[in-house]
Amino acid sequence: MTFDHLWAGWRAAYVTSVSDAFAAPGEQPLRTGGADTPENCVFCQLLAAGGKDEHYVVFRGKRAAALLNAYPYASGHLLVLPTRHVRALGDLDDEEAAELWATTRDATIALGHAYSPDGLNLGANLGRAAGAGLPDHLHFHVVPRWVGDTNFMTTVASVRVLPEALPESWRRIVAAWPH
Ligand SMILES: [Zn+2]
Repeated sequence: MTFDHLWAGWRAAYVTSVSDAFAAPGEQPLRTGGADTPENCVFCQLLAAGGKDEHYVVFRGKRAAALLNAYPYASGHLLVLPTRHVRALGDLDDEEAAELWATTRDATIALGHAYSPDGLNLGANLGRAAGAGLPDHLHFHVVPRWVGDTNFMTTVASVRVLPEALPESWRRIVAAWPH
């Protein structure tokens, strides 16, 4: 199944600025190659970058960070990840595991304040066979959900409606992030 975005004006610049790792189904990757090293990992690049790429980083801790998903399933869709390029949950040391979980907690708090969702999906796709688009850098998804958001458009028309621009999501989540 392919998805077309009704609105994604920010996307071209974003994809150009990082890599193909977020390439949507059917979309032409701008770079080839895997993400098996930090040098070609979109997450590591984002965390290392300054400038406009900073607008995808909503929280940057010592051992964990939270990013806006460039292809959100809903407004506020966050990715929580260790700052170190680690593939498996079992590769985290205790301090990384603790900070990753604390950052996941804070992400749910921030999304609660920013969006007042009716619920949240929290999950991870560990490995490409499990659906990970970028399996080489561990990350958790935190997705706000609302009663009735079962995505009629996706189901019926293979179109995702993105009601909010990513810069607006960034502003709201950063403002709501617990300190
Ligand atoms: Zn990485």
